Formats: sequence, C-alpha cells, structure tokens
Amino acid sequence: MDLSLLLPDHFQFTDQHIGESTIQIGLIATQNVGCCPACQTPANQVHSFYQRTLTDLPICGKAVSLRVHLRKFFCRNSNCTRKIFAQTAPAYFCPYDRRLNRAEQPLQAIALQTGARPAARLCALTSQPVNYSTLLRISHKTVVQTQHMPKRVGVDTFAFRKGRRYGAILIDLDRHQPIDVLPNREGKTLEDWLGLHPGIELITRDRSSVYANAITTACPQAVQVADRWHLLANLSEVMERFLDTQERTSTSQSWQLCQHLIRLGQTCH
Ligand SMILES: [Zn+2]
Repeated sequence: MDLSLLLPDHFQFTDQHIGESTIQIGLIATQNVGCCPACQTPANQVHSFYQRTLTDLPICGKAVSLRVHLRKFFCRNSNCTRKIFAQTAPAYFCPYDRRLNRAEQPLQAIALQTGARPAARLCALTSQPVNYSTLLRISHKTVVQTQHMPKRVGVDTFAFRKGRRYGAILIDLDRHQPIDVLPNREGKTLEDWLGLHPGIELITRDRSSVYANAITTACPQAVQVADRWHLLANLSEVMERFLDTQERTSTSQSWQLCQHLIRLGQTCH
C-alpha cells in the first residue's frame, strides 16, 4: 500500500504497521530549517529529535495514527529568551494538538451539529474514537463569525464543565443560532457584551437577578422576557417543595392533581 500520496507535505515515509483495526505510519520531517517561535530567527543547528503521535483521518475503516519525528533546534539569537525550540508544521497540526488539522475539522463539525456525547458515539462508529470532553474542547475552538447585529437574543448559563466551570451562551432568537459564549456568568461580563452589541430590542433570560440587572444597566430599552423553560422549571420546583410539606394520605385528590401538573411541566421542558 503506497501511502505517500496521502501524507502531509515535507514529511518522508519511514515505516508502517497495519493491524486489525489500526494503521500506524512512521514519518520524519524533511525540512532541516526551523523558525524560532519567540524571535522568528531561522535556525538549522539540530539539538535533538523528538517524536509526536498524531491521529489522522481513518482509512478503509481503520484508525490511523502518525508517529512523526521532528527536530529540536538551537536558537542562536543571543537576545532571544528561547535557547531551544521544537520544529512544528502549523499547516498540518498545532502545538500540543494530538491530531492533524484535517482530522479535527470533521470532528468539530459533527460535535457542533449533534452535541459532544452523540458526536462521540458517531465518531466511534466511523473509526475515530474520541472522548466527549475532547469534542467539547474542539468545539470551543470554533470561531463564531457574525456580521449580523442581533435584535432579539436569549442568554442562559452554559456549562464548560458541569459542576466546575460555567459561562453564558448568547442565542440569536431570529436565526436560532448561538452567537457567542461568555467566559463566566457574571453580570459585568454580560454588560460588556451588550455594550458591544447596541440595538438589541428583546432579551430572554432566566429569573435570576444577575442577568436582569446587567440587562437593565446595559440596555434599559430592551424588553426582558423570562423564558418558558425556566418558568416551568421554577413552577415544578415550587410545587414539589409545597407537596413535600403536605400529608399525602389526607389530600389524595389535590396531591394527584399537583403530581399531574408537575409531570406536565416536566414534559414541556
Ligand atoms: Zn529565538
């Protein structure tokens, strides 16, 4: 099997191992000149070699991994803080990445279309096993481009990692598309974002005062709407708390009615 035509430019094929479900390909970089990332000075004095393992697109249903041998160079610029730097190939992979750019792009598209967990299951079926948390990280690299200035938006809390780190997501309600993700759920951050997006006429939000105060401060002209999901969620929580205080045996009829309402609310979520 001649794999050379499928490989990145400036890499030479060294060996291959074809297993039952995987293909391992050895490569060595052919460029013997590097560019220091700190001072941009070209260098050709080799310090050592190092190896990286990168995932590529699957071939014939087999997962492909590349064992890439790269150089480390001395930086001879006496004013530079870097004395040694590693060779890279940014056209094909980024520093610290574990897969080629061309293998990451389809994963990003699948994750954005389906969500991280369904995407992980789909990728496993297409010989691209990847953890859902990795898919989340890949999704976060997406550059959201918007030329459109939204008029009606929704803001809600967004979990980067459930229970650990939260942000806020902004949705364009007219286009039904996410338009931005804020690094936290603090009111000041939302205020700053709204300051950069004038002309918003309507904002849906949860019922907490954090977002409400931020919206009132940044764009007092906007109509604020408590969204249906949070209204129903709050209704269910209040009714469950109320029912917990009641004697179930003595209020059977009202108890059944309330349970029915809770189920109805949960279904509408
Ligand atoms: Zn340098």
